[in-house]
Amino acid sequence: MAQAQLSPAAARARDRPFPLRTGRIEVRHVARPTPNVARIVFSGEDLRDLPDEEPGEIITLIWPAEGRDEPVLPAAGWKFPDGCPEQHCRNYTVRSYDRSRPELTIDFVLHGDHGAASRWATAARPGQVLGFAGPRIHFITEPDADWTLLAGDETALPAISATLERLPAGHPTRVFVEVADASCHTTLWSAADLTLEWIHRDGEAPGRCTRLEEAVRAAELPEGQGKVWVAGESLVVRRLREHLKGERGLTIGPLQAIGYWKHRDTPADVE
Ligand SMILES: Cc1cc2nc3c(=O)[nH]c(=O)nc-3n(C[C@H](O)[C@H](O)[C@H](O)COP(=O)(O)OP(=O)(O)OC[C@H]3O[C@@H](n4cnc5c(N)ncnc54)[C@H](O)[C@@H]3O)c2cc1C
Repeated sequence: MAQAQLSPAAARARDRPFPLRTGRIEVRHVARPTPNVARIVFSGEDLRDLPDEEPGEIITLIWPAEGRDEPVLPAAGWKFPDGCPEQHCRNYTVRSYDRSRPELTIDFVLHGDHGAASRWATAARPGQVLGFAGPRIHFITEPDADWTLLAGDETALPAISATLERLPAGHPTRVFVEVADASCHTTLWSAADLTLEWIHRDGEAPGRCTRLEEAVRAAELPEGQGKVWVAGESLVVRRLREHLKGERGLTIGPLQAIGYWKHRDTPADVE
């Protein structure tokens, strides 16, 4: 059977080994751009000359084990040394990378006390050390796309923001972002021809609310080949993926729908 042609970005994503790099990073600065986001700038020599080929590349963060100040880093193949204590690891989006310093900025959604990463980010302070592995290419740019649709909750906002900053001038782009309320809005910059809709949960819990799905279902999309990228709670994303593949007939190549996080009662097989 003939092999499907990979876009250049998909080929770069396939060819990038993981972990490409591992290292330690130190918190340099913490800010609160909105009430439920900690914007943390990390610095460290291990960040020097990271690739930054596609918007919103992903980095896996490694927190030191309970009672330790330093993380243990994995070797090739994500192998940790024998006897390595259990460490918390989670994926985050590179919101921006400044190679001149080098510094890397991550926006952490503060979703409460029930996640170790969220707990840590709520109280983060300069000098604290984390490990990292990556980065990995995440957004697959489709050079032939006539338009782009980006949708997700606040965990998707760093990738949406980074992607918007790199879309070509005048490119027709629809964006749907689900957040708690108007206090979570941020300024998004893009040269694209952008139509942005903020969707408010207005008291409903993240990942339990159907308003993002309803907005995407109701959206009138332009003619031609679209690039679609969706991320958020896994069940929400699954429903959107089914709609986009089924009723909209979008093909897998230009459609990326990725579960970024899960409620504890979301079945394990929902990606
Ligand atoms: C490729 C990728 C990129 C990502 N980029 C970002 C990013 O840039 N910024 C960001 O904030 N997150 C991002 N995420 C999501 C983040 O990894 C998850 O939210 C992660 O679960 C947080 O870890 P934790 O230790 O706080 O909670 P966990 O221990 O993983 O989860 C504990 C419980 O917390 C709840 N929970 C987890 N996340 C959320 C949430 N966002 N809102 C409400 N409840 C939640 C769930 O009920 C879960 O069962 C990304 C995920 C992926 C896969």
